[in-house]
Amino acid sequence: MGEDRLTSAKEQNTDHTWDLTLRPQKLKDYVGQEQVKENLDIVLQAAQSRKEPIDHTLLYGPPGLGKTTLAHIIAKEMGVGVKVTSGPAISKAGDLAAIITNLQEGDILFIDEIHRLNKTIEEILYPAMEDFALDLILGKGPSAQMVRLDLPKFTLIGATTRYNLISSPLRDRFGVTFRLNFYNNEELAQIVKRAADILAIKIDDKATLEIASRSRATPRIANRILKRVRDYSQVKGDGNISYELTKQALNMMAIDKFGLDDLDRKLLAVLVENFGGGPVGLSTLAASVQEEAGTIEEIFEPYLMQLGLLSRTSQGRIATDKTYEYLGIDREGDKNKLF
Ligand code: ADP
Repeated sequence: MGEDRLTSAKEQNTDHTWDLTLRPQKLKDYVGQEQVKENLDIVLQAAQSRKEPIDHTLLYGPPGLGKTTLAHIIAKEMGVGVKVTSGPAISKAGDLAAIITNLQEGDILFIDEIHRLNKTIEEILYPAMEDFALDLILGKGPSAQMVRLDLPKFTLIGATTRYNLISSPLRDRFGVTFRLNFYNNEELAQIVKRAADILAIKIDDKATLEIASRSRATPRIANRILKRVRDYSQVKGDGNISYELTKQALNMMAIDKFGLDDLDRKLLAVLVENFGGGPVGLSTLAASVQEEAGTIEEIFEPYLMQLGLLSRTSQGRIATDKTYEYLGIDREGDKNKLF
């Protein structure tokens, strides 16, 4: 349920074409993530001067922050091809073999949601990453034979939203690891401005900032909100996006000034009202708001924690002073009621 919301950072079907149009192609057009860009630039230059593919690279961070975009940029900057797949899409050894044996020297294999690879596939991946070799078992039973196939030197780029779910042997095989962080409002405003320019949408600066500040610090959401506000402005105005129309559209979508929607508010309210502010275990909290624990952990929590509206402790999730302030509930008052 939570994954279909306007403010979900996960890719939705309607994002696809839009994403392709707006995705920056070059590192210089990739907004923000300065430290990552600086380090990546060195990795790229060093590999180019040695005329070698770059090291296997792991990108991690919440959804919608630009991991897939970065993988494509790396391929472009290196002048190599890229094959895209994902952890859940590779269920059999043959699926992996089919992709990997079609790679050209230097190509990039991008595996999204790499934490969802199954164990058997992971084990086939180890020699592929280390020795550029694929060990395949042909046939069944006593006549089965192990065949080693040599592979072209390729680069594996893995992306994940759940770093802690990646096994340590897999983690260790990545030479480079980058963590992507949430974007600040100025960076998001630049992303919105860039998208509006590409799509020839007229938008004023105040409206740009308003969209930026309500986008959960996430480019994918900023672009999606821009699309919705453009529709609203076309129907309610002359198509130009003004601050007034932006505010009206966002209010109609029930997205507040922090970028939170009804589901976030429900989660926080349940934490405070039903569980006295916690600590409460993830699965109990998830059941109370009828969401999957994984969705809460991956989509809701990173941003709520970034805002300081939720804390994870070893005992469970807890509300903070800010949560009470946000919900307009008097924490002391609540405590007083207990005694
Ligand atoms: P992820 O793979 O982390 O879920 P994506 O790379 O698919 O995220 O990014 C989603 C969309 O957000 C992209 O299509 C792109 O338009 C936009 N985007 C992401 N990061 C940036 C960035 N740094 N600069 C500009 N646009 C970005």
